[in-house]
Amino acid sequence: MKNLFLLFFVSIVWYSNAQHKCASQYLYEKKLQANPTAKEIHRNAEALMSNMLLHQVNENPKTNPTAAHKTNAVITIPVVVHVVYRTPSQNISEAQIREQIRVLNEDYRLKNPDSLPVSHPFWPYTADAQYEFCLATTDPNGNPTNGIIRSSTTTNGFDADVNGDDVKFTITGGQDNWDPHYYLNVWVCDLINGVLGYATFADQLDVDPQLDGIVVGYKYFGTGGVTVSPNNLGRTLTHEVGHWLGLYHPCETNCENDFVSDTPPCEQLNYGCPSFPRRPNNACGGDANGEMYMDFMDYVDDPCMNTFTYGQTVRMHNQQNTYRPDIATANKCVSTASINDEVKIKFSVYPNPSSDFIEIYLGNEQLFTNPTIEISDALGRKIYSSTFNNTNSLQIETATIANGSYIVSITDGTLQTSKPIYILH
Ligand SMILES: [Zn+2]
Repeated sequence: MKNLFLLFFVSIVWYSNAQHKCASQYLYEKKLQANPTAKEIHRNAEALMSNMLLHQVNENPKTNPTAAHKTNAVITIPVVVHVVYRTPSQNISEAQIREQIRVLNEDYRLKNPDSLPVSHPFWPYTADAQYEFCLATTDPNGNPTNGIIRSSTTTNGFDADVNGDDVKFTITGGQDNWDPHYYLNVWVCDLINGVLGYATFADQLDVDPQLDGIVVGYKYFGTGGVTVSPNNLGRTLTHEVGHWLGLYHPCETNCENDFVSDTPPCEQLNYGCPSFPRRPNNACGGDANGEMYMDFMDYVDDPCMNTFTYGQTVRMHNQQNTYRPDIATANKCVSTASINDEVKIKFSVYPNPSSDFIEIYLGNEQLFTNPTIEISDALGRKIYSSTFNNTNSLQIETATIANGSYIVSITDGTLQTSKPIYILH
């Protein structure tokens, strides 16, 4: 195995000479080169983790059915999407954003309809990564949110290698990130010079917390809307979340490894839409099945990537447990009430989506004392408030409310709960 020094040295040359869809490893190497101490710590941590991962990959239930298997709990990651736009088309629709969350949930649970068939030679290595994603419903101050924050900018394009991090700060025309220990921050903006996206790695969280997160070009985020083929199926973020959880590209060039033992040896990254087998018996020690070009961490077009390996999912959980432990219990996708309170505080909203009116029903066993109700828009602005006046139901006219998503919040000053609603005329 060659070490990361070589891997990243090659990466930095490659970035300047070839088409670069993703700038994550290039930017990572720049950071490490600027800090030799960090580089040494990083190299030692990789060596330790690689030994541990090799053992766990041997527990793949498909390739080693008799091994003892550890079952990971599915981890739900709250996502906040920072839309930073200069033109109306860059201010992507909520539908495009929700499509992106759907794609993540399919790809990270092996529910993507294009996953490899059982008959494919690489099928035994495919795995459910056991991560799920939701738009945050609670902001860092405990207030309801729909997980989408929009702001305009005068910056005419963000270049990953020049001014890309400007999008991560309000003072430089972007938006500050939310506490990255508890949220996956994703910025959607006009990313220029051919890069589709880039991510910070898991082990950078405590080094540069204010930079933590992922940047994706607005044309490559989600599906539909203003997305552009062949990167219009939401796989740019699937790939970048892999980096954010600690994965490398299967190889950049010259057979470098990715510290995952069940991704087959590969000569270099793959583009377009190759056919199987790709580079059989390659110079890096590959067999007749060749390279796993359909891996989400390779560079093929969106319609042609569909796979995480078992070893990659093991690495993601190890990296996340080590460097991002708090995200597993962040619990930012549920009501602002505590989990126990949420069980007791039931209220219903009907119809949802709604057009002319909604009916709020508190139920017969509601625990509120003289509750008030508020409806706020995506920017947290209050557009309606009322009290229940000793009743347990309330009808609210919504005919004059614009299409979009809103949050209904009910509180009596002690208990609070909320739900998203959708207005569609
Ligand atoms: Zn990448």
